[in-house]
Amino acid sequence: MLQHTQINQRDYSWRIDATAAASAAAWVAAKPHVWQADLQGMATYFPHWLLVGGRAGRPLQCATCHAPIVPLSAALRCLLCQQPHTCDNLFWVGQIPALARPETHFQQRQADLRQAGFAEVTIAQQTYLLVPLTVSYPQQWPNQEPLIAYSPRWLRTLGLPTSSAAHHLISNGRACIFGYADWVAQPIHSVLGQRMLNHITSLLKIAAGQSPAHAFIGRSAH
Ligand SMILES: [Zn+2]
Repeated sequence: MLQHTQINQRDYSWRIDATAAASAAAWVAAKPHVWQADLQGMATYFPHWLLVGGRAGRPLQCATCHAPIVPLSAALRCLLCQQPHTCDNLFWVGQIPALARPETHFQQRQADLRQAGFAEVTIAQQTYLLVPLTVSYPQQWPNQEPLIAYSPRWLRTLGLPTSSAAHHLISNGRACIFGYADWVAQPIHSVLGQRMLNHITSLLKIAAGQSPAHAFIGRSAH
């Protein structure tokens, strides 16, 4: 899978290196069909997302360049200086577009997001918020569910808590999208496109003034 990003107005492209990825996540080498299904699904549905390395539950950045650490040339390396970093996990980082809501209350929140520097796009007179997310793979992937978290700063700017049972947020912005024993092995893009998109839709209803109890009615999770 080819990856693209821009840093300081310069374009960078690279191909995801499986050997490098496997150095941070054993399942990559042990389950090549799972790996291929995830890469193909992300390339098709979420082509702007980046696969990055991390440690202790969060993506790493190069201390010198502040650039992401990506699977390149047999190691997880800083995209800019190419220095290798030791990582113990893989993450997808990116954004999911979600239609902004028309309520006045929501428009104020949307202005706050803009002010805080969060991006949005307008297509055919419809404005979509770009919701910033981080997906972390469990070591037992795909036998365990992935951990998907909102940017805590994005939640706070929208007037939402980062941890609340009523909002189906577990801790530090992590979305609760599967009930107990509810997980069925599936590629990562399908979790993002279904459960996670439903979760985002519910949170935006709350930001528009609905009560959490009503906002989550009809979702497919518990
Ligand atoms: Zn660097």
